[in-house]
Amino acid sequence: MIQLERREHVTTRTIAVSEIFGVTIQGEGALIGKPTVFVRTGGCDYRCSWCDTLYAVLPEHKAEWQPLTTQQVFAEIQRLSEHTPLLVTLSGGNPAIQPLEELLDLGHQHGYTFAVETQGSVAQPWFSMLDYLTLSPKPPSSKQVTRWERLDRSIMCATKKKDTPKVQICLKVVVFDEEDYAYARHVSERYPDLPLYLQAGNHTPPQSGQEIDIPGILERMDWLIQRTIADHWYTVTVLPQLHTLLWGNRRGV
Ligand code: SF4
Repeated sequence: MIQLERREHVTTRTIAVSEIFGVTIQGEGALIGKPTVFVRTGGCDYRCSWCDTLYAVLPEHKAEWQPLTTQQVFAEIQRLSEHTPLLVTLSGGNPAIQPLEELLDLGHQHGYTFAVETQGSVAQPWFSMLDYLTLSPKPPSSKQVTRWERLDRSIMCATKKKDTPKVQICLKVVVFDEEDYAYARHVSERYPDLPLYLQAGNHTPPQSGQEIDIPGILERMDWLIQRTIADHWYTVTVLPQLHTLLWGNRRGV
């Protein structure tokens, strides 16, 4: 009886999906280079000044987002991965505003693993079902305000998992300038036990209408590396956005 009720639940809740694509590689953070299928959900509670996925954020794009059932999303993941269980990256927008627990459950039953990328503004109990949680609080250049208590709650939700393996949690901060760098230092001091990844920001997101500025990105990355070394900040990892270097602002890769 309980199972039946649960199945009905699965088929009635829908996930707002902007795009599903892959197999490609994860371009940033702890899982950089890993083969993955991306599920990009639609809708976000933030409006970062340099957001490069506004088509998955702004309400004017809502008509492009498909309300898909868990089974429909998973069927597309299986089609793209040819039924080989691999890493599924749930990104957005903010995937934390979507009902994703049934997808995690279904995918795990078939051997898939799941990573979520979110800014940590909405904490979900289903974070404890994840394999990886990347929290990317947004620095001052984004023009957003970090609600630290919400980030704390997101970490708490993910650490509630009793059995092993535990959810692997990491932090990621995009850095554009000195103010962002100071913010990243604060994040590191606030969460000393979590791995922190820094990446140089992309000044030419799609809406800028400009060509991607690879030399500029590499220059800022060099600055960022020199900055961390000068500070003897040796616990941090500085990475590029690999997908930006390889494919610029192209969608679906
Ligand atoms: S949180 Fe992410 S998806 Fe949302 S506006 Fe900021 S960069 Fe874009």
